[in-house]
Amino acid sequence: RDSVASRGLGDVYKRQHINLSDDILLRMQQPKLALTVSIPVRMDDGDLRVFTGYRVQFDDTRGPTKGGIRYHPSVTLDEVTSLSFWMTIKCAVMGLPFGGAKGGIVVNPKELSRLELERLSRGYIRAIADVIGPKRDIPAPDVYTNATIMGWMANEYAQIMREQLPGVITGKPVHLGGSLGREAATGQGALYALQQWVARNQLDPGQTTVAVQGFGNAGYHFARLAHLAGFRIVALSDSQGGIYSAAGLEPELIMQHKRTRRELKAILYCDSSVCEEARYDTLSNADLLELDVDVLVLAALENQITEQNAAQIQARQLLEIANGPVDSRADAILSERGIPVLPDVMVNAGGVTVSYFEWVQNRAGFYWDEDEVNGRLKTIMDREARYIFELADDKQINLRTAAYLHGIERISGAMIEHGTREYFQQHLSLIHISEPTRRYAI
Ligand code: GLU
Repeated sequence: RDSVASRGLGDVYKRQHINLSDDILLRMQQPKLALTVSIPVRMDDGDLRVFTGYRVQFDDTRGPTKGGIRYHPSVTLDEVTSLSFWMTIKCAVMGLPFGGAKGGIVVNPKELSRLELERLSRGYIRAIADVIGPKRDIPAPDVYTNATIMGWMANEYAQIMREQLPGVITGKPVHLGGSLGREAATGQGALYALQQWVARNQLDPGQTTVAVQGFGNAGYHFARLAHLAGFRIVALSDSQGGIYSAAGLEPELIMQHKRTRRELKAILYCDSSVCEEARYDTLSNADLLELDVDVLVLAALENQITEQNAAQIQARQLLEIANGPVDSRADAILSERGIPVLPDVMVNAGGVTVSYFEWVQNRAGFYWDEDEVNGRLKTIMDREARYIFELADDKQINLRTAAYLHGIERISGAMIEHGTREYFQQHLSLIHISEPTRRYAI
């Protein structure tokens, strides 16, 4: 599967830096389970529409599979499979006791009413209920899904199973068993990773300019927290366009305006004092990617940096908060140009890490305060990020290859415990050696 192996794993599969058994390469070629379902939904106007949904569980050697559900018109089985593979790597990179999965529905959720969205979300859970569960496969939010949707899904699952099983889904509303800190966790984790990088490279946050593509859950919380931590956020964009201010933007205020105005571009024309004082410039998404900044943060969708624009990137380093925003060709170009890319499987892993904490809290029935959540997230992110930075330096490889190497090492460690060809062939040869004795005895 080209789209799975093409990014990151390519180098690992070539076994340049790791001694991997053929068995492990074979087992990492295709998912354990790929389910396609039809979800009939009665629309508000009485029409029936049938939506297509997917759930792919890539590998569960290290534990129950884990990964979000995305609602997007361009969702495909191939994309969901790649994302489930990245979740497998991501959980291993962070040392979480999970395998990887992903789900999706082909839908533009912005075109649905809230009631239609609820029916669709519950219908999806009815369709996949047999393959999920707190000890089997645990969904969570992803692109265009949120805590409310997770709450409906957990409730639907409880109705099917006739018992409360909050650990079946993470990213739920706090009042329904969600974890404190989960909402901001992806952005928070990405900031911890960036802070480790900044400290290692002796950069001064106050002098570090940052452009953020994507103003959804991950992009917004990252921008907000990075601003609070002293970084200068000079540009922000959403799917409609972006804004720029050399003096720096205040993400929280921008979000307040976006909520009332719905798009960032409109903020320029709003008549409130904040907008007038700040005098933002507008820019397109394409312009934002090519800004001369210290850190370019990619928090929108996959394949944003490609062969087409990789040569024009002026940022000194890239931070991948979305899954797969730099494609494999662009990755090679950036690597050649010496522009470090802090990879998604490490940078955005704060989300699934706090999902893990939510699952632990649900199963224990004992809930933590927000400081405990963030403290534990920081411990894990700092540890894994430092390990990856050092591995990249030691082996003279890029950060993505280092992260994959680290994840694959944990996955292969688990697979080796079940026995590989090398182990069983040794066993065969033992029989072989003892054969003359056996023959004698017979
Ligand atoms: N969708 C998020 C991701 O891609 C979170 C997954 C989770 O929390 O299970 O990492």
